[in-house]
Amino acid sequence: MTRSSSIASQPHAAYTAETNPYEAMMKRFDVAAAKLELDPGLYKILRTPVREVTVSIPVALDNGHLEVFTGYRVLHNIARGPGKGGIRYAPTVTIEEVKALAAWMTWKCAVANIPFGGAKGGVICDPSRLSLGELERITRRYTAEIMDMLGPEKDVPAPDMNTNEQTMAWIMDTYSMHVRHTVTAVVTGKPVALCGSRGRREATGRGIMLIAREAAKKRKMKLKGARVVVQGFGNVGSIGAELMEAHGAKIVGVSDIRCGLFNKAGINMKKLLQYGAKHKFIEGFPGAGKVSNSELLELPCDILVPAATENQITSENAGQIKAKIIVEGANGPTTAEADAILNAKGVLVVPDILANAGGVTVSYFEWVQDRMGWFWKESEVNERLEDILVASFYDVDEMARSHKVNMRIGAYMLGMSRVAQNTKTRGIYA
Ligand code: NAD
Repeated sequence: MTRSSSIASQPHAAYTAETNPYEAMMKRFDVAAAKLELDPGLYKILRTPVREVTVSIPVALDNGHLEVFTGYRVLHNIARGPGKGGIRYAPTVTIEEVKALAAWMTWKCAVANIPFGGAKGGVICDPSRLSLGELERITRRYTAEIMDMLGPEKDVPAPDMNTNEQTMAWIMDTYSMHVRHTVTAVVTGKPVALCGSRGRREATGRGIMLIAREAAKKRKMKLKGARVVVQGFGNVGSIGAELMEAHGAKIVGVSDIRCGLFNKAGINMKKLLQYGAKHKFIEGFPGAGKVSNSELLELPCDILVPAATENQITSENAGQIKAKIIVEGANGPTTAEADAILNAKGVLVVPDILANAGGVTVSYFEWVQDRMGWFWKESEVNERLEDILVASFYDVDEMARSHKVNMRIGAYMLGMSRVAQNTKTRGIYA
């Protein structure tokens, strides 16, 4: 295999019935639909994406060869507003994953009660093996290929795994070049200097800290002094860990894709962040012992934050999880089969569509600020974020308690009922 073909596509381990992300979403959707006694017609509308697009992305590599990458954009639902959802770059991207992530965005925006629908995008590529120039060319051509779908009133992307502020700046610039004027509100998660929002980079991690705090209260525990394990040391995991430590938690375990670290006395986040920035990975950090990623999830702790990727807690390891609370930083880290096991053990699982909604909430603030041309102080952003997330936590809790379901099904029920209500009130255009 040449270098170019291996970076454009890699065989993805086949999903099982348990790990297919779209099926995992649908299993919870079906339970929530039954509990809501959702009208059969609305059931069909809510489960079906509005649009699914696959594009070919021809790109000239630095070595002069041409390669063709595959990209997706799925618009799941627009009943409550424009599509909203990140763009992911990874060799493991599949259309099933993008469809699931788009649907989760629909429910997440509805749970946070912000005026967006759900969307998601992805490009099959291995960013660790691409130069900055190659990434820029992929991003610009991908944007041009899905150009018709995008726009502040249509579909507004944001960063996700392996994409960042720079990626958003390239998308904003490409879109703006096509429409002949600068349109900052076409993406969120931009650099602050390019009309991004203060506090957006930290927003998902900040949300994790706030939700962990509320979940601890619900369990009659305190975040202060709680032992926390975080899987994934990227945007969500590293900032979430840093903020939880700042609020008195002891981060006893962390991992990235290469390895896990454990120190029951606590790992110093400031030092680990400095080490990670210097070495790119956390492997070799002197302040902790090494564990595997699977051992990490089973470490003794009070709060576990999976903040890496899907299917990390499955029927294989759920029985061995020792945490009392799981706060899902990643999307889809727990399978439906694992949910049942964790439920039976009495573990409180705060689902992704609530726990990691901090990012999209501040993305909403960024979109509002861009459209107003008036930018808020970071303290205002953080205050409004806290208001929305804390209210959403108790809305979900109330739904779960009144229907005697767990928080995940409660969150699906809340999100789906809001989307169903809007769909019904708007009526079906024919
Ligand atoms: P990122 O690319 O910044 O970081 C991902 C981290 O996870 C890295 O440390 C990476 O090494 C690690 N990782 C990847 N695969 C792993 C594996 N199999 N095992 C262990 N570690 C692994 O990504 P991010 O933006 O932090 O996103 C992480 C998760 O959070 C994703 O599921 C994403 O969809 C979700 N999320 C992100 C945001 C956001 O604002 N960035 C918002 C909501 C949800």
